[in-house]
Amino acid sequence: MLNKKTIKDIDVKGKRVLLRCDFNVPTKNFVVSNDIRIKNTLQTINYLKDCGAKIIICTHLGRPKNGYDEKYSLKPVYDLLVRLIGPIHFCPPTVGKEAQNLSNFLNNGDVMFLENLRFFEGETKNCPIFAKELANLCDIYINDAFGVSHRNHASVCAITRFVPICGAGFLLQKEIDILGKKLSKEVTRPYVAIVGGSKVSDKIAVVQTLLKRANSVIIGGGMAFTFLAAQGYSVGKSLIEEDKIEIARATIDEANERGVNLLLPVDVRVTKEFPQPIDEIVDYKNVYIQNIKKDMMGLDIGEESERIFADEVLGAKTVLWNGPMGVFENPIFAQGTMAVAKAVARATDRGALSVVGGGDSAAAAVQCLVADKITHISTGGGASLAFIEGKELPGIAGLSDK
Ligand code: AMP
Repeated sequence: MLNKKTIKDIDVKGKRVLLRCDFNVPTKNFVVSNDIRIKNTLQTINYLKDCGAKIIICTHLGRPKNGYDEKYSLKPVYDLLVRLIGPIHFCPPTVGKEAQNLSNFLNNGDVMFLENLRFFEGETKNCPIFAKELANLCDIYINDAFGVSHRNHASVCAITRFVPICGAGFLLQKEIDILGKKLSKEVTRPYVAIVGGSKVSDKIAVVQTLLKRANSVIIGGGMAFTFLAAQGYSVGKSLIEEDKIEIARATIDEANERGVNLLLPVDVRVTKEFPQPIDEIVDYKNVYIQNIKKDMMGLDIGEESERIFADEVLGAKTVLWNGPMGVFENPIFAQGTMAVAKAVARATDRGALSVVGGGDSAAAAVQCLVADKITHISTGGGASLAFIEGKELPGIAGLSDK
């Protein structure tokens, strides 16, 4: 754990502890529809309660534009939290005199919950004035919001300059431990990484890092077509980033030089037009990559690629998966992603350590009922990629040294 203080290194008894969580959860009719992120943080909240801390929980929800907006109120999250941990004090103003008064009157073990941080533009602007207002509410700051730890936001970054003691919560610690140790220094080989999703530009840096660490790197999803184009294949109307063909070619060369097995699809599922709406059932063909016609677009890896990718995954002792293999929002083009999800689960059954990062891959694991088989589903998509790339995350860098 990077020599930063963790919650266990800090005496929190009787202290006001500002706990930054990532409760950016989906809601339907003002009710939380997926509570995983909240349940993941209960260990930290309950620990702080048991230690007699005065807990002030803060989080963002969605992307409100102009101050308070009922659509983004944390009231539904508050309702759920009350059911999970008992009575808590809701603080609609988030910061200011009223919030400060409330924080000063908390008893040991009490919990106070601040309204959406992003109702203040200072939050996303990493504004020191807003960070100071948050700092005024507490003596200790704990970050348990891995999902936003790559963001330069006031409650993640600037706050650490104004609170004397800052540490990591259990969830953040677990993410750092798995992504930092188990996928890096202490990796058990063979290590197979699967990267998918739409854009080469978003994922190329992580692919290049993985070439230095993994034994095999599998590339699927829309981004695979730029790599196929770099190998000279015609990809028809498939997604392609012309300006990334060169870097894709260089990446393929680097994999060869390093002796890393870079796997691309050998066949794909193609159709004529992008489905509208996205889940519309359309005709498709499974074709080898040599046979993608000009008027066709590839929206998923093909059946043979599924088998090849699954075989590679099944031989792994460590698996990292980030990004879908196709347009998984459509049941026809979700087959490749589902095949990978099942292979990752089977590899885990056989003793591999598996890590899934990114909302889409996590959703796919849930959809084919294998989520409970995965060793670790990371709570941060962008944050996990940034961390694996070796970038310094502001939400970790600012924590107090041990
Ligand atoms: P990302 O946000 O980069 O992880 O990409 C996820 C998105 O990539 C999903 O919405 C998929 O529908 C999309 N995607 C995956 N494969 C393809 C493909 N072959 N063509 C177009 N979009 C794709």
